[in-house]
Amino acid sequence: MKTEFDLVVIGAGSGGVRAARMAASHGASVAIIEERFFGGTCVNVGCVPKKLFSYGAHFPQEFSLASDYGYQVDGWSFDWATLRDNKSREIERLNGIYQRILDQAGVTIFQGHGTVLGEGRVSVGDQVLTARHVLVAVGGKPFVPDFPGKEHVRISDDLFYLSELPERVAVVGGGYIATEFAGILHGLGCEVTQVYRKELFLRGFDEDIRAFVAAQMTAQGITLKFNADVAKITEAEGRKQLHFQDGGEEEFDEVFYATGRVPLLDGLFAEGAAPALNERGAIKVDEHFQTSNTGLYALGDVIDRVQLTPVALAEGMWLAAHLFGQNKPDEAMNYEHIATAVFSHPNIGTVGLTEQQALESCGAVRVYKSQFRPMRYTLGELQERSFIKLIVDDETDRVLGLHMAGEDAAEITQGFAVAIKMGATKADFDATVGIHPTAAEELVTMR
Ligand code: NDP
Repeated sequence: MKTEFDLVVIGAGSGGVRAARMAASHGASVAIIEERFFGGTCVNVGCVPKKLFSYGAHFPQEFSLASDYGYQVDGWSFDWATLRDNKSREIERLNGIYQRILDQAGVTIFQGHGTVLGEGRVSVGDQVLTARHVLVAVGGKPFVPDFPGKEHVRISDDLFYLSELPERVAVVGGGYIATEFAGILHGLGCEVTQVYRKELFLRGFDEDIRAFVAAQMTAQGITLKFNADVAKITEAEGRKQLHFQDGGEEEFDEVFYATGRVPLLDGLFAEGAAPALNERGAIKVDEHFQTSNTGLYALGDVIDRVQLTPVALAEGMWLAAHLFGQNKPDEAMNYEHIATAVFSHPNIGTVGLTEQQALESCGAVRVYKSQFRPMRYTLGELQERSFIKLIVDDETDRVLGLHMAGEDAAEITQGFAVAIKMGATKADFDATVGIHPTAAEELVTMR
């Protein structure tokens, strides 16, 4: 088997696969090494299965809504194993697609653990590959802080393979994963408490969105326990006792920790072959994704810039073009105006600056807010609401930030992200005729 390449990629997740494929399409000879699963975190234990579970978790609400429209959906039941196993089958199909895409692109696949030995040298099993360039795109892994009883918690990966759904669950953390998990588990019928160490979860998101989502989740019946720090966890007869710093205690069937992710560097570098890391333990790179070692590049979650699949894909495309393309990118990758969504219940969609950031960067802003009950719910008692907010630079009229929480927030935000990236003004929004009746039209009718 061939062992000499232009590019060896370690890690077949979103960023690695995209970089490998694109490099091959530019004419490079490419190998990719993967030890666990093709498609990485996103496909296997992240975005894809999470979104499928999020769809699944909405059905009870849909059944209740159906009766407002005259349908009787009595006596429904839910089988966790069916959802879990159908999801796993779909993921296996996607794993196969990823492998086929690589094959078709002419990328040589090595299964096993890749280790960077030195400049242009990588081992996988007992083979040594040589390459002009080596790319590390191994992603991250869940981080759980150290405390007594840490061994009793589960991490996000575990949710996707649980043998049974627990009845009473604590989800610790206040970021993307914890908030999404809280909504999913509640929707699937668990009694959920989300535990967060500070005043209000979803730090970094717009304040109004954070408060709105907290109120909606509480109204749905999720317990939000903020300003709560876990001191230790004990286990008795299979149940987990959470002991809080303030002396309080609560018992759960399962405790999920979603307290951030860290770069997956285990066994990645032979002695003396590791590049410089930043203060958070991520690989340091320059604007060309070049590490401190010659010929060694890194991108995606292992560089800890923006931990999002579409960002890793964009980085992979950029680097492949930079190393092997005929038309090399003129500028470094642009990280401005990256739209993002939290698939919490309700969904959050956001692009651009929060009100606080906008005030800090330009001083005077105009803020437009609207809260409404989506038409779909108006025939019955469901009180679910949507909230939207625009932040506009008072001087230039440019829309600096768009934030939404509610049904279809992620879908709606994606479209508006193009306008905001292009520098749309509030006058441009106002000049756009709405589509009626939609929730999205609210964004062009705010005065
Ligand atoms: P986040 O960084 O989003 O959130 C981590 C949370 O854990 C924060 O609330 C943080 O609190 C809290 N935390 C950190 N350390 C501790 C500790 N020692 N004790 C108690 N709480 C702690 O990480 P996630 O794990 O939720 O997700 C990882 C990344 O994955 C996200 O940042 C996101 O980029 C990506 N992701 C994207 C999704 C999407 O696009 N929809 C979905 C899921 C993940 P504090 O706020 O106080 O720091």
